Amino acid sequence: MRNREDYERILLFLFLYISTLILAVSIRYGIERNKDKEREKKAAADASTAATEAAVTTTEVEEPVFRVVIDPGHGGNDTGAFFQSEEGRIHEKTVNFKIARFLKRELKKYDNIKVIMTRSKDVFLYPDERARFAIEKKADLFVSLHNNTLVGAGGYASGFSVVVPLGNYKKEIGKAAQRLGCNIAFELSEVGLHNNGLLMRASQDYDYENGEPADYYALIRKLVKKDIPAVIIEHGFIDNEDDFYDFLCSKEQLQKLAEADARAIARYLQLSRTDTGEVLAPLSDYKVKICHIKRNGTAKRFRRTYYTSK
Ligand SMILES: [Zn+2]
Repeated sequence: MRNREDYERILLFLFLYISTLILAVSIRYGIERNKDKEREKKAAADASTAATEAAVTTTEVEEPVFRVVIDPGHGGNDTGAFFQSEEGRIHEKTVNFKIARFLKRELKKYDNIKVIMTRSKDVFLYPDERARFAIEKKADLFVSLHNNTLVGAGGYASGFSVVVPLGNYKKEIGKAAQRLGCNIAFELSEVGLHNNGLLMRASQDYDYENGEPADYYALIRKLVKKDIPAVIIEHGFIDNEDDFYDFLCSKEQLQKLAEADARAIARYLQLSRTDTGEVLAPLSDYKVKICHIKRNGTAKRFRRTYYTSK
């Protein structure tokens, strides 16, 4: 009997021992499973946070698209200046338009830029309409393309000038246009045109709100008021034989001028070329010639040094 009791006690002990063991293993297994689940949850949460951060970062580094309005000067009945060749007249409006088409094509080789033309055919537009167009399109820059004539302002007879705002009202806008003008002057002088630098001209009739003389050219005046940096490029003197035959009479020559204008805009805006990723180094400390025609008509000539990136 005693042996039987002992035997039962041993069985009971074994039973309890094994049950405890099973229970302990189950609890341990449960804890591990929960830990795994938590780890998975954390990993998923981390991944989602990382994705959100990546999305936020992508939005932050997304580069702005610059809207550049190109304005081929004159058009329709307004033919502009002309060169009288033996075959007939070559009108400024046609030369301007050709440069504009080449310029648009060149600028498309860069990232982050949208190029819009004020006219895509031979039509007349008032300066007001051109300005309104740029305002409606929310232009970041306005570049009007022209060629000069001997009666042009500044007392020059050959070479290029870039008309820029006086910079006496909305100073940052004026300075932006002046810096762009320096880039254009640098690039056009590389092509070989005589460099007359920047031209600033005061109106005899209009003042800005701050009482300073307004800019003479309506396009520049109206766009400065609306915070749009605007320049007028007078590429060369169309009625000067040397300028005409050396720079303005063939498709290849006009293409070169357009390439220079495009490089200037790209350098100023620090755009990268889509094919190579190249960004032109900003011009620093660029010394430019300036002709400032005052309200009374007298011209003051001087040089000024600009740091020329935007
Ligand atoms: Zn013109």
